[in-house]
Amino acid sequence: MLIEFKDWLADLGNKPYGSKNFNRALCFRYFFLIPTDWYGNEIKDYDYESTWFDDVEPGWRKIFLEMCEKIQNVLDYSYNEVDDKFKFVQIKEKFGELRMYADGMNDEIYNIIEDCSKKSRLICCECGAPAKWQTTDWIRPYCDSCVPIKKDGTKYDAIPIKKGIYD
Ligand SMILES: [Zn+2]
Repeated sequence: MLIEFKDWLADLGNKPYGSKNFNRALCFRYFFLIPTDWYGNEIKDYDYESTWFDDVEPGWRKIFLEMCEKIQNVLDYSYNEVDDKFKFVQIKEKFGELRMYADGMNDEIYNIIEDCSKKSRLICCECGAPAKWQTTDWIRPYCDSCVPIKKDGTKYDAIPIKKGIYD
């Protein structure tokens, strides 16, 4: 990875996240973050208004980018075996994890994505700290301070997350 880009990534929290410049820089490194339409086709006149990165919960952005770097490394050395075909189809939070659907994966990329999903279950989806709680109504992982508050002022029902619970 280019050293400058490493610095750029490390300083991500201070970047004007969501700006077109940010998106352009992100997609310059990770072309697969350019969104596709509902059918997986290129978006006409795409102008970097949004990327797949926008669909990632704030607390999971760091591990998501680490994952992207791993995927890019595979693509860099795959001799175009998957290069042109690999693309995300959908990215969302589901059952307390970062769920990513993609086309054109090889086994290596599949495993990288699975690893990231697994990791996300133990990371606060709001702030990225280690998660201690899993809300039970809408299943999401939170640290001590991020468990959301209900309208009546009480915290959402949550059960403690034990490391290794999913292994
Ligand atoms: Zn948190």
